[in-house]
Amino acid sequence: MDIFDKFSTLKSRSDLVLQLGVDPFGVKFDTILNATRGMIGNREIVLAGTNNYLGLTFDPDCMDASINAIKKHGTGTTGSRIANGSYEEHIDLEQALAKHTGMESAVVFSTGYQTNLAAISTLAGPKDVIFIDADSHACIIDGCRLSPAPTIRFRHNSPQDLDKRLTRQGEIEGGIALVVIEGMYSMFGDRAPIKEFVEVCEKHGAYLYIDEAHSFGIFGPTGCGLAEEEGVLDRVDFISGTFSKSLASIGGFCLSRHKGFEITRKAMRAYMFTASPTPSNIAAARAALDKIAQKPELRENLHARAAQLHSGLKALGYDLCADVSPIIAVRRPNEIVAAVEWNWLLENNIYVNFAVPPGTPQSSSLLRISLSAAHSSDDIELILNAFKQLSENGEALMARVQEVLAAQ
Ligand code: PMP
Repeated sequence: MDIFDKFSTLKSRSDLVLQLGVDPFGVKFDTILNATRGMIGNREIVLAGTNNYLGLTFDPDCMDASINAIKKHGTGTTGSRIANGSYEEHIDLEQALAKHTGMESAVVFSTGYQTNLAAISTLAGPKDVIFIDADSHACIIDGCRLSPAPTIRFRHNSPQDLDKRLTRQGEIEGGIALVVIEGMYSMFGDRAPIKEFVEVCEKHGAYLYIDEAHSFGIFGPTGCGLAEEEGVLDRVDFISGTFSKSLASIGGFCLSRHKGFEITRKAMRAYMFTASPTPSNIAAARAALDKIAQKPELRENLHARAAQLHSGLKALGYDLCADVSPIIAVRRPNEIVAAVEWNWLLENNIYVNFAVPPGTPQSSSLLRISLSAAHSSDDIELILNAFKQLSENGEALMARVQEVLAAQ
């Protein structure tokens, strides 16, 4: 028995995709020029799959803050805050996030993944019950797996189904119900009906936890996310998010309207037993938060570009998974077609995400685009033109698919 035998199905699937071109999960960029361009060899690629929603990774103030933080504190923290102590900047960022969102408590983590892992697994104890959306991100699912609480899934974006399941659950002896949803979903770019979820949670006395990883910074009058956009931010118990998208860094945060959340710093294993975010990561996120507060035009530009691309792709006849949002997912009939088309786009200097199960809902195969406020209207025309040529080349590309399949 070989230790890798268990991966044989995954290996065959991966080998098949590799016969269609380069590995979509192993693209190597030689240089990143700015938020919308990267180089592969001597080719300049339009980046349309980075989640760099506000384009702040190359903002001069964010870059300077990051560089200065290295000069002041060094390149790493070399340990957790529990063991090595906090830097002033960790605390300042937590206070700034709490102030910006009007929340009582804020904790920063080393990644968004660890945020959900730590918070969900710790907040839900053995007597509690977790209710999660059926399309939840992997780190929400993993947080549930690490929690001693049972997990119940409800239909995607269905407050009615949640209501039914909470009713069926009835009184939880000595425990609470924790409901976990996302703001904007990462694959299709569809949005949760947050106000309705808030109402269902309030009706049943359940706690509501929203992962706004993809919506923080890009929705709401002050960029706090979809709960703010729907006017219910102060009725949500926990908001989590990441620094790896609109905040242009790496790390994560969980905010709560309850002061009691503070004590969980001494219980969350994925907070206590891992190194804290580096000075440069924290400084970049802090500077990006200021931009979110000061520059609503970034959000406006992003939404304008999203509308332009969405309507253009629709006019070309593409099947899009959701209404207009900065994530635009083009549904393809299967993984092979998606891989051939994804390669064609990259050969034509457009980088999008190749997204397939188990990372996608409904077992769908997607060409997933995420836009940036740094994209210009001309960039969107470049992307649209590529998709136009892609559909015009449909027959030749399908012949390539048949060839590979026939050789199987
Ligand atoms: N939540 C959601 C919904 C995500 O899509 C992601 C990552 N794309 C995360 C959390 C994790 O974020 P991070 O990259 O900071 O680990």
